[in-house]
Amino acid sequence: MEALLLQDLSGFFENARQARKWLVALPLQYNTERIYKGAHAYIHLTGVCKVACEHCMYSSDYTARLPKPSLNSLEVDLANKYINDSGSQKLTISGGGEPFLKLNALLSLISKSFVPHIEIDTAGDWAISANKTVKILSSLSKALEENPNKPVLVLRISADKFHSVIAKNPVSISNYANIIRYWSEQEWGFKLALRGLLLEDDETSILIARAVLGNLEKVNDWNKLLVLPNGKTIPFTFNVLRFTGKGVNYVNSYSAKTIPMLDYYRPFHDENDNLVLGMAINDAVDGSYYKIKGLSITIDYDGSLFIYTATAPDMRANLVTHNFVQSIDHFYRDPITHVLLSDGLYSLLRLVAEIDEGIVTKSLQQNDMTAVVASLLSNENVLLYATLRSVQMLIKAGKIGVSDNTASLKFLSDVDKNILLGVAQVSYRKSR
Ligand code: SF4
Repeated sequence: MEALLLQDLSGFFENARQARKWLVALPLQYNTERIYKGAHAYIHLTGVCKVACEHCMYSSDYTARLPKPSLNSLEVDLANKYINDSGSQKLTISGGGEPFLKLNALLSLISKSFVPHIEIDTAGDWAISANKTVKILSSLSKALEENPNKPVLVLRISADKFHSVIAKNPVSISNYANIIRYWSEQEWGFKLALRGLLLEDDETSILIARAVLGNLEKVNDWNKLLVLPNGKTIPFTFNVLRFTGKGVNYVNSYSAKTIPMLDYYRPFHDENDNLVLGMAINDAVDGSYYKIKGLSITIDYDGSLFIYTATAPDMRANLVTHNFVQSIDHFYRDPITHVLLSDGLYSLLRLVAEIDEGIVTKSLQQNDMTAVVASLLSNENVLLYATLRSVQMLIKAGKIGVSDNTASLKFLSDVDKNILLGVAQVSYRKSR
């Protein structure tokens, strides 16, 4: 392989996509430990949702305009195998669509999962009557009983004014009350929780408490407890508003009313003051991110896979083409992933700020971690620059060894960062 020369850099940026591909395909000798274990698996079974919230960060709706709106049954089986092979500690079956629209898939995950903690996030719009509510609660209970591993299951209902008032098809307070009432009347074997957005002008929690004749007790700024007449308690936790998907429409009216993402995540910094969410179990709504030697992986309803906050948009894997080990091998081919998993999001924010601080400001405005990484790296020239700088940083830190077939990269460890930046900026400015 020819040594990489300074003049080659401008050629690189003339075809940034090709150059990035070449860099990612290089057989780099990483001196870092690869982790072949899961931490927290997230799965979005469908992108469709009848509630059609006006703030939905996924732009979920009831019209199936998505090219591939849901995982099919083969993909659900593959997802189950993928998650079980990963040895993840927690599985969140969440919105990004309404998981109860794929009830069979949902029940199959609950009955067959090896994961010890499972959470289902739902709008609860299915609880339209006593019969329907009891039927659904019974089906969850039965699926859980069938699981020989006896996971802890939490059913978490999204309840705030965006869901119960502003949505195109709002969830009525009586739906929430149905779920709470029938859940509390007997032992189903799983826990119930509520979650909402932290908004000063939202009375949903009060209306729900009134409907079930319960009391709300404050735990702290993020948590309340709903105490029912029979003494049972249900945690009611609060979250920040995201301005992605349809949520962008609320950026002007609500950004001053919700907590900026970096403040929200401040308690979750690691001992080096980095924010590494790609290796953590997320219990943020209850105030914790547990750092763990495992990878947090999201499975999207189109079958794509990525490490949470540690995968560039062009490096998603797919359930159909990658089993767990193959997907990890694939993710680790990207130097950016190595940087994101060791130094976290802030290092990427700093790298991208070198080329354009405006991108960083705009990305952070979305108040959502996955969207931030995707938008930071959406421009091909910025993506290539971040890749080259990541390689440079990893070589300097001794995390990439330069061998015969990667000798060309030696140049990168020597080249002045400002020269690299200058070349990148010429192409970046042209591309805007
Ligand atoms: S209920 Fe959840 S998934 Fe459905 S539209 Fe609202 S925010 Fe999106």
